Amino acid sequence: MSRIIGIDLGTTNSCVASTDSKGHPTTLVGLDNERTVPSWVSWSTSGQVAVGTRAKRQAVTNASATVYGVKRLIGRKVNADDVSWFARLAPFRIVAAPNGDAWVRVHGQPVSPQEVAAHILRRVRQVAEEALGEPVTRAVVTVPAYFDDAQRQATRDAGQIAGLDVVRILNEPTAAALAYGAHRVGEGRRLIAVFDLGGGTFDISIMSVENGIFEVLATGGDSALGGEDWDRRMLERIVDEVFDQYRVDLTGIPMAMSRLREACENAKKALSVETETMIQLPFLANDQHGAPINYERPVTREQIDTLTKDLLDRLEAPCRRALADARLQPDQLEEVLLVGGMTRWPSVQTVVETIFEKKPSKGANPDEVVALGAAHYAGILAGDSNDAALLDVTPHDIGIKVGDSGFAVVMPRNSMLPVRARRLFATTTENQKFVSIELYQGDATDVTKNRKLGQVVLDDLPPGPPGSTRVELVMTVDVESILSVTARELRTGREASVTIRPSGGLSQREIVEIINRRRQENSHVGGLPMQGGTVRVTTREHAISKPDDDEKK
Ligand code: AMP
Repeated sequence: MSRIIGIDLGTTNSCVASTDSKGHPTTLVGLDNERTVPSWVSWSTSGQVAVGTRAKRQAVTNASATVYGVKRLIGRKVNADDVSWFARLAPFRIVAAPNGDAWVRVHGQPVSPQEVAAHILRRVRQVAEEALGEPVTRAVVTVPAYFDDAQRQATRDAGQIAGLDVVRILNEPTAAALAYGAHRVGEGRRLIAVFDLGGGTFDISIMSVENGIFEVLATGGDSALGGEDWDRRMLERIVDEVFDQYRVDLTGIPMAMSRLREACENAKKALSVETETMIQLPFLANDQHGAPINYERPVTREQIDTLTKDLLDRLEAPCRRALADARLQPDQLEEVLLVGGMTRWPSVQTVVETIFEKKPSKGANPDEVVALGAAHYAGILAGDSNDAALLDVTPHDIGIKVGDSGFAVVMPRNSMLPVRARRLFATTTENQKFVSIELYQGDATDVTKNRKLGQVVLDDLPPGPPGSTRVELVMTVDVESILSVTARELRTGREASVTIRPSGGLSQREIVEIINRRRQENSHVGGLPMQGGTVRVTTREHAISKPDDDEKK
């Protein structure tokens, strides 16, 4: 069996790790010597695909065909609130697939987020193969704790398209906690917070660790806050300065904007260790007389902090809310773990210390810690270590619709898999002939904000007054996250059932078609080598619950 690698498929950057010969997780570095791969994919007009740093460089010059933040779209409907928000900001087009899923349109062609993510995973896999000198086919891939089953399955599907068997999906905060060794310290139940500020998103998770079992107690965050906001503030300031001094609008000059963006991010990184640095951009553009504008200015950490005070302030409320959801006070937490490159910024660390009333732990490299945790877990799965017994849990409440928009939870989130839950319901009208039970997953009390999974209809009910007919609902979720639901009328024993496999939006046939298409393209353009011939569909998997028509746009 080939080894299992650990992959952090991030919103802005991705990272891959594996255990070394002594069983220690280490970050894998490919031939280009980069420790992380920017999660960017760019298509030239001739169809050539660039991934990572090469794609990110095209962000301004080839903006409409350069896709980033695909993690925000994977397994999502186009009309979800934060997808609409992202669609308004993104310079590339986000469109509705026939089933209402959010896809991107590149050079006029619709592309699923699974395919975009697969390009990133394929690149990450290549990095791993370069570093290890052997083929890699199996991976543990991390996702945010709040990802629902569809988002998790879509991530698995992306792995399959990239030629990877995703042996396990792992929650990011759990991976981080594993990498920090949170399960090895002390006895009894320990409470920790994982504070994750990356390039584009902020996630806070409150967790408990006991006997090697990690449980996510509460999650929160801000999906529109990350290190890029700091960069953008600096960039906007320079654009204004240049305009005031030279009457030249840099926003209309893609090459200048691209250089500026990179210079601001680099200055920010320098300022996380120094208190002052220099931004130097010779020949940034031409002034109105055709003379070159050579931008050169010192910048201090204090100036950036003043410019971004409101961004720092936005970190507090989600932390307080997550603590309240977990019914905990800051002093009950033993440790706060820092994850995400932006937690290197000193003022971010100060804010964390103020909120949680303790110095955060900085033992690990925040950009790599999630991948290292995934590699650690891969080592456990491969039998190299029996360090922690991680149990899988249901990520969200599963229940049924009651009334117009109520949600009755049958199986609470964080139930350890496999799990079985049972609940009794009664008819509500006189001589009710049938019950139609709509199944949903999510944490909102308003069912319309949750994801519909499917429905069970039980008909030919015996006549009687309201409440006379009782229906028992039994739900089970197995270790593969497959949900089975049976509804049984207690007097006659009539029953109806449904089995719901997680669906990421693509059917198995569609996934195989993408794989075959990619193989044909690769044989023409000389892309990444892949082994084997055409893949055939051997099993046809599909979700019992097809996306609703009313979810289509
Ligand atoms: P991640 O998504 O975890 O890779 O985090 C990426 C974000 O972290 C980007 O906005 C980076 O600019 C930021 N970042 C990386 N290194 C540093 C650093 N040394 N100081 C400040 N921000 C950093």
